[in-house]
Amino acid sequence: NHVPLSPISFLLRAARIYPGRVAVIHGQRRLTYAQMAERSRRLASALRRAGIGPGDVVAIMAPNTPEMLEAHYGVPMTGAVLLTLNIRLDAAAIGFILRHAGAKLLLVDREFTRTARGAVPEGMTVVDIADSEAPDGETLGATEYEAFLAGGDPAEPVRMPEDEWEAISLSYTSGTTGNPKGVVAHHRGAYLNAAANALAFNLTPRSVYLWTLPMFHCNGWTYTWAVTLQGGTHVCLRRVEPGAIFAAIAAHGVTHMCAAPVVLTMLIHAPEAVRRPLPGPVAIATGGAAPPSPVIAGMEAMGFDVTHLYGLTECYGPATICLPQPGLEAMPLAERAGFMARQGVNHPMLEEAAVLDPASMAPVPADGRTLGEVMLRGNTVMKGYLRNPEANQAAFAGGWFHTGDLGVMHPDGYIEVKDRAKDIVISGGENISTLEVEEVLYAHPAIMEAAVVAAPDPKWGEVPHAFVTPRPGAEPPTEAEVIAWCRARLAHFKCPKRVSFGPLPKTSTGKIQKFELRGRLQGV
Ligand code: ATP
Repeated sequence: NHVPLSPISFLLRAARIYPGRVAVIHGQRRLTYAQMAERSRRLASALRRAGIGPGDVVAIMAPNTPEMLEAHYGVPMTGAVLLTLNIRLDAAAIGFILRHAGAKLLLVDREFTRTARGAVPEGMTVVDIADSEAPDGETLGATEYEAFLAGGDPAEPVRMPEDEWEAISLSYTSGTTGNPKGVVAHHRGAYLNAAANALAFNLTPRSVYLWTLPMFHCNGWTYTWAVTLQGGTHVCLRRVEPGAIFAAIAAHGVTHMCAAPVVLTMLIHAPEAVRRPLPGPVAIATGGAAPPSPVIAGMEAMGFDVTHLYGLTECYGPATICLPQPGLEAMPLAERAGFMARQGVNHPMLEEAAVLDPASMAPVPADGRTLGEVMLRGNTVMKGYLRNPEANQAAFAGGWFHTGDLGVMHPDGYIEVKDRAKDIVISGGENISTLEVEEVLYAHPAIMEAAVVAAPDPKWGEVPHAFVTPRPGAEPPTEAEVIAWCRARLAHFKCPKRVSFGPLPKTSTGKIQKFELRGRLQGV
């Protein structure tokens, strides 16, 4: 009597018990759960009629739109795997990924059609989606996608997976260290991670979830599934900028959102003119990069209730969460923010997280000092990298998933992420956590954003170099002032030796591109 777990059931259930509830809001558009389920089933049927079946790969390249959500259900309903493409990719990267994945069909938002069409392999079907909220949305009229849906029959039976370990989605890592790797997620992991996130983040049928995180990135940390699981409302935003975020929160009574720390920084520094008071409590989960404590404190001061998550694509997004602790509420704001920023990685969402010595695979001592690698294990770790046996062997050596992040274990059982192994600065044999130095820089009143990277040094091997964006409207600090600020707060060897000023390069998920900054220092 075993029924394989699949997030497809979330939409079918929501449509059954809350048919009239608003599932998705996008500009002037509203879809109820009955409509979203109908459209997703039509999509599944249309895909079948286009020759898509179990095990095939269907790609989508779109910003956060209702069509993107439909694809998260309609594609798996055929037994096919949904490949979500990063909308910032260039034609060469799209071509590589579509070929590597063996994708058969591409759904593409019209804004990206030109780039994508130049990259699609011979013989692949492409269906354009026109979005009413796109820059030229007013003039788009009927679209290929709507015509494609019209050719499907929503009454066709939904195919549920026969085996819950079947692949449901595929997303590629950014490939900053080589060719992108295809991370295969399975129905079971997606189901369990969505359930764990819905519980940990207190999603309810009354939740209104604002999308600022791209849905293409680890399927939006699985919230594409988690919000639907509870029958909450998805609010899509095509362009993520502070004015639109504040306006959407006020207009739709947003209760929950997830955002990268850079979005939090944008909100804190938003001009007075675009700010709106929060209509009620808004829970915001942040992660994907380390949120500095002044950023957490700034959000809490605006009335947001911040949760810190740590995770990665290979485990469906959030893997661990900083849950409210006894005593945390009573802490002064700055102290609480500091605790949450550091102890981001503590409670595994569902399963095991540990800090191990990768050579012996033994746990590091719980002394808050000894560095090891953060490792994860359990049902919500990916199936593996697609067609990449070497990468799989390395990633799963010793029976744990190796995150590539370095951390320490505190005596009270908290894991603290110190840095990515590839970002840590090794100066005269000492490890310097760039996150620790950035935390100090973010506390400077005239600094908005900061990133620290290793600069080559003839004497020490490497030394920390800070890249800093001054806060708009503030008197920018000098290099000497920034260094003096760090010296007053950090051991001498951890302080940046040089400081550069200017905007920081970011990925489409809002991460600061440290490899780019390191590149700028080569040969300096
Ligand atoms: P790619 O692998 O595609 O080059 P990436 O490493 O950024 O990019 P993601 O899966 O997007 O891949 O992000 C996961 C990484 O982000 C983690 O391994 C970790 O280094 C970092 N990260 C995520 N959350 C946090 C956090 N809360 N604190 C510190 N670092 C974090």
